[in-house]
Amino acid sequence: MKTALLCVVALSGSTLLLGCSAPQTGEAGARAALDDAAEAMGGWEALRAVQSQRIVSQGTSWEPTQGLRPSETREVNTFAETVTVDFGRSAVRIGFKGQRTYPASGPLEFTEVIEGQNGMLEQADAAGVVSPVRLHPSRHATRLRDLNRMPARVLIAAGGSSGLNRADRAVDGVMYQVVTYQDGGQSVELLIDSATQLPARVVYMEDDPLLGDTRNEWAWSDWREVGGVRLPHAEERRVNGLAIRRTTVTEMANNPQVASDAFAVADTALQQPAVGERIASEWTLRRAAMGVGFQDFARPQSVELEMVAPGVYHARGSTHHSLIVEMSDHLMVIEAPLFEERSQAVIAAIKERVPGKPIRYVMMSHHHNDHSGGLRAYAAEGATVIAHAGNVDFVRGMLTHTKTVRPDALALVQSKGAAPPAIDAVETMKEYTDGRRVVRVYTIPNDAHAQGMLAAYLPAERIIFTSDLYSPAPGGKVDPSNANARAFYTAVKTLGLNVDRVVAGHGVIGLFRDLAAVMAKG
Ligand SMILES: [Zn+2]
Ligand SMILES: [Zn+2]
Repeated sequence: MKTALLCVVALSGSTLLLGCSAPQTGEAGARAALDDAAEAMGGWEALRAVQSQRIVSQGTSWEPTQGLRPSETREVNTFAETVTVDFGRSAVRIGFKGQRTYPASGPLEFTEVIEGQNGMLEQADAAGVVSPVRLHPSRHATRLRDLNRMPARVLIAAGGSSGLNRADRAVDGVMYQVVTYQDGGQSVELLIDSATQLPARVVYMEDDPLLGDTRNEWAWSDWREVGGVRLPHAEERRVNGLAIRRTTVTEMANNPQVASDAFAVADTALQQPAVGERIASEWTLRRAAMGVGFQDFARPQSVELEMVAPGVYHARGSTHHSLIVEMSDHLMVIEAPLFEERSQAVIAAIKERVPGKPIRYVMMSHHHNDHSGGLRAYAAEGATVIAHAGNVDFVRGMLTHTKTVRPDALALVQSKGAAPPAIDAVETMKEYTDGRRVVRVYTIPNDAHAQGMLAAYLPAERIIFTSDLYSPAPGGKVDPSNANARAFYTAVKTLGLNVDRVVAGHGVIGLFRDLAAVMAKG
């Protein structure tokens, strides 16, 4: 069925304009473009007949904010995945079998099952035991959002959405019919290739804790017919133009036979309370692809301040810790991990424990998103950010990102004309003191985890804070083959630091002699 031509009669000044053509703009233009795209894929009827799918694919994931340098992205896994969806039931089952390559090598396997508001995750815990848990609310919301982005569904979702509009343009030298619409509270752009009429990309803005307003994108290619519908067999997902996931389909079936319990969510998972906000965020999926912690995202924060020396506190209670150092008339915070809400909870806890002293400095151990995502909240408090000299551009970028999707405290003070936050660059070492207490910030060379790594050393207290190079484990256990731990140990010895305790971004408070005992053996 070809798009019906629209005949326009318009009076412009004294000239009567008469023309018949498919509209190019507005809602009518959007619907015409969607009709053409549906036609190219096999027609609306064929598309609507696809009620469920099974898609088997192989792929690779990357994380753009976990590279060796801020400018580099990092491969985090390769995987095989089976996705079964039933669009009418808002049901999806994802079987993910991956090999993690970063932050440590090893298998990464999980099964997610969602049916509407019910969801569960099955993934082995540290002891290797798999027991169903209720799916994290943000991960759940993101998966449901993604159902409407799937190629078999995207035109139907767009057609049924509000705010349809069209404004064609060229992107990367290719002309697209660009349809915009609102879906799930997000503004979505569908780019339809003007030459083939096939959907080429779906783009939507969301908030990222570190990157602020972020352009998320799925790009499709390798179109093949599956049961009378043309569907892409290659997909690349991007964050701000950088690939985070590339897949090729090895098997695709429309309306397949699905086991009756495929979408069954275990009672044990449903009995667990659904704690937290359902914020659709690629951040949770990117963390899950690395097999690392994201559980506190969009949830109430717990902060435990443990005094490690008079006026020195280890702020724990989450996957990532900070160190608070009290000076005579101000405070230093070492590390602002995760995201705004984590920082706000830590700031509130500090203000309660040490009232009346402003937070004058916050130190960033390294640029990775989970160790820098909370910095903006401290900058909003007026704190100067201490960063490795090589990371100054990265920090400046982070402190000036637009943040309109989920405005934070810094966006608010900046909208009121606050001066740009100050950045203190550390070349090799910088000392901070109130005349009595001393904190020395050192650069820690390593060539595996992150360049531009800083550690904070308190010489009088014989304490050092580091992140990711060495995370003290309970019982003082140290893996002798860990290159990051060796880099940290070597730096402490080379600098001649007198360290008793390692109070780190992860793990328990450890004894340096436990690390030294293992590393000294070579
Ligand atoms: Zn890291
Ligand atoms: Zn870490």
